[in-house]
Parts: sequence; C-alpha cells; structure tokens
Amino acid sequence: MNVLILGCGVVGVTSAYYLGRQGHTVTVLDRQPSPAMETSYGNAGQVSFGFSSPWAAPGIPQKALKWMFQEHAPLKIQPRMDSAKARFMVQMLENCTSGRYAINKERMVRIAEYSRTCINELRDDTGIRYEDRQRGLLQLFRYESQVDAVAKDMQVLEQCGVRHKLLDASEIVNVEPALARVPGKFVGGLHLPDDQTGDCHLFTNRLADYCRDHLNVTFRFDIDIQRIKRQGDRIEGVVTSAGEFNADSYVVCLGSYSPFLVKDLDIRLPIYPVKGYSLTVPVTDDGGAPQSTVMDETYKVAISRFDDRIRVGGTAELASYDLNLLEKRRATIAMVIGDVFPEGGNIAEAEFWTGLRPMTPDSTPIVGGTKYTNLWLNTGHGTLGWTMSCGSGHLLADLMSDLQPAIDPKGLDMSRYVA
Ligand SMILES: Cc1cc2nc3c(=O)[nH]c(=O)nc-3n(C[C@H](O)[C@H](O)[C@H](O)COP(=O)(O)OP(=O)(O)OC[C@H]3O[C@@H](n4cnc5c(N)ncnc54)[C@H](O)[C@@H]3O)c2cc1C
Repeated sequence: MNVLILGCGVVGVTSAYYLGRQGHTVTVLDRQPSPAMETSYGNAGQVSFGFSSPWAAPGIPQKALKWMFQEHAPLKIQPRMDSAKARFMVQMLENCTSGRYAINKERMVRIAEYSRTCINELRDDTGIRYEDRQRGLLQLFRYESQVDAVAKDMQVLEQCGVRHKLLDASEIVNVEPALARVPGKFVGGLHLPDDQTGDCHLFTNRLADYCRDHLNVTFRFDIDIQRIKRQGDRIEGVVTSAGEFNADSYVVCLGSYSPFLVKDLDIRLPIYPVKGYSLTVPVTDDGGAPQSTVMDETYKVAISRFDDRIRVGGTAELASYDLNLLEKRRATIAMVIGDVFPEGGNIAEAEFWTGLRPMTPDSTPIVGGTKYTNLWLNTGHGTLGWTMSCGSGHLLADLMSDLQPAIDPKGLDMSRYVA
C-alpha cells in the first residue's frame, strides 16, 4: 500500500516507522525544512508513561480561578475569546467530573503503557540514541495536600500495573541527589522508576534517518499542504505548494493544525493549540543537576536531564496560534529551575522556545479511521505526545494493515466525539 503521511513531527515519523516496517511505501510531507521543527522540537523531554493524566480533572475549575491571580501560575487564559477557545473550555469543563477523569485516565494510560513496550523495542530494533536515559520520573510535592491528592492517581497506577512509590522528604534525595542542596523545599514525591527521558527532536530526526536508510520511507520538506480532495467516501489526493500527491491511504499527523485540513471534509476535530514554553540550559555542575526528569507539581513544570543540557518545560496558555515568546513565561520556568536546581546550569545562556500542544478536551489522542475509507487520524496528543507516539503509531499501522492490535482501540478514535 502507498501511504501519504501529512506532518513530520514525532507522531508523523513514528507512524511512518511502523507502517514502513509492515512493508508499506510511505511518503511524509511537511512545510518545515527537516523533521520535528514545530511542537516536537523543544518539549520537556519526559517520556512519562506512568505520568499520563488528563488535564481536565475534578477541582481544576477552582484551581484555574485561583491561578488567574498568581504570578507564576501553570495555566494562563488570554482574555480575548474566540469560538474555538470557548468551545474547548466548555468541553474541558465537561471532562472535569470524577467519572470522566477515570475514563480518560484509563485511555491515556492504556496507550502510554503500550508506548513503553513499543519505544523499548524500537530502541532495540533501530539502535537509535537520543541523549536518552531510563531512570524514571519524580513528581515533587511542596505541600501535604498534594501528597493526599495523589492517592487517586496511585489507585489507577495500581490497576494498570504501573510501578510507583511514594517517597518522603528524606527519600527523594536517593533518586535525585541534587535535591539535598535545597533541604526543606519538598515534603515528598511520587517516583515512577520506569519512565524515561530524552531529546524528542533528536529522537525524531534519528528515527527519520533510520526510516530513510532502512525502510521504504521518503520525506518531502518545504511543502505547504493546502487541501485534501475527496471523491465520495474516499480521499483522492492532497493539494500542496508542490503540486498534487496521491496515495492509497492518507494519515493526518498535523498536530495543532490538523483541524484546518479536515474541516472541508466535514470532520470537526476538537483540537486546540495549548501553548507551552521551554528553556534549554547548559549544565555547569553535574552534582547540582537532575539525573532524570522531575516534575514540580506546584508549577506543573518538568525538568529533564539530557547529556550536557537541562530542558525545563511547562506553562499552559490558551492564546490561539500565537507563537510570541513572552518574557513573563520565561520568568516562571527560570524561577522553577533556579529554585529546584540552583547550582545545576547557567540559566543566562538558556535557549528559550515555545510550541503548541495539540490538545483534545479529554487529553487522549485521536487514533483511527474516519468516515472516509482511506483517511486516518493520528493527532491530538496534547501534553504527552512523544510519550504516546510509539504506541499510537504502532496501533495506527496495525489498524491500517488490518492486523489485530496489541491494545483495545476502543475509545481512542474519532467516534467518541461524533454524536
Ligand atoms: C512546552 C511543551 C512541553 C512538552 N513536554 C512534553 C514532554 O515532556 N513529553 C511528551 O511526551 N510530550 C510533551 N509535549 C507534547 C509534545 O511535544 C506534542 O504532543 C508532540 O510534539 C506533538 O507531535 P505532533 O507530531 O502531533 O505535532 P508537531 O510536532 O507539531 O508536528 C506536526 C507537523 O505538521 C506540520 N504541518 C502543520 N500544518 C502543515 C501544513 N499545512 N503543511 C505542511 N506541514 C504542516 C508541522 O510543520 C509539523 O512538523 C510538550 C509540549 C510543549 C509545548
């Protein structure tokens, strides 16, 4: 089968890898000059299967109100309202019940846990390295109330068989020794020893190189995808700045921009761009730097260790497709890294970046077919797109090839949004 993949972020490339491995001929199109130049470029570097949690949760509406008045809040909602933002906020609110939270969390963990198996196999099969570490994630709590609140998540982790351990203040330094330099700051943490870390841009590029060298996968860059052409219940081609491309099947992996291309096909994708920021800080003192990923629960900022760099990522801003680098947001993430690892790196030399998380209101990606027999979706991966990309890429390839998938695809496709 000839497959055309639209979008060369981490999701497009993992989809290409799994389809290529199954013997298909794959072409990947992107407007950028190389892989992973948009949201997959500068993310926080956590591959956090066990940490996969919906943002819409009981208590979030109240917290969101409180955050509006805080200087270093994890969520910022720009006052200018448009219909897409209003619709997204209403749908998020509908997902804030404990019933919806449990359903969404199970779906996320299902795909994320499968991703763990897939990424481990992928590393063995391809031999690619991406400044990766397999040393777990530590969620850090500054208040006892946060320790109490994590009990519910631990129940789900238990049910899903995800290894985890609640640590007190004296135990967290065994996992991240540099925390001994900030005594009294944290009351404890939740350790997920099987989570991983790495540079997503490097991962995507190394995997794309592998696909090009070992599989029947071609990449075409600097091409603007303009329109998807339909004929009855089939897609017949894709119109681009470089002419029309035709294939047997088509996969949409356009991240936050996916809704625009499928709108004319009467598919309403509930994806909203949730802006985030990162700083990449050169390590100056290994002993004062993190060894893997820590997540500061108070500010929802993740801090990951690469070889000679620390990646700090966080904040969620509802600001449509605006990509301006706001100094106020830089101040928040710089404050967190300075507070948690004050001696780890040189913040003055950090690279500042922003990207748009392709968020669905239930935080679960949309993976599967559509009402068009040869159009597939693999998009909407939101906050943990790299974490879920190998599982969702493998699932998609199995579904497209009519193979029995390793996980139940129920509740993961677009049908959950179609009345
Ligand atoms: C601050 C921040 C921190 C994050 N931290 C983490 C983390 O620690 N761990 C994790 O797992 N996830 C994290 N994420 C989320 C993760 O980065 C995303 O979910 C993931 O990168 C989405 O990948 P994608 O391939 O779907 O989208 P993208 O990487 O955006 O790829 C989509 C591609 O489509 C192309 N495209 C779009 N429109 C067109 C068009 N019209 N024509 C041609 N090409 C087009 C773009 O150029 C782009 O390359 C974070 C995100 C942010 C913003």
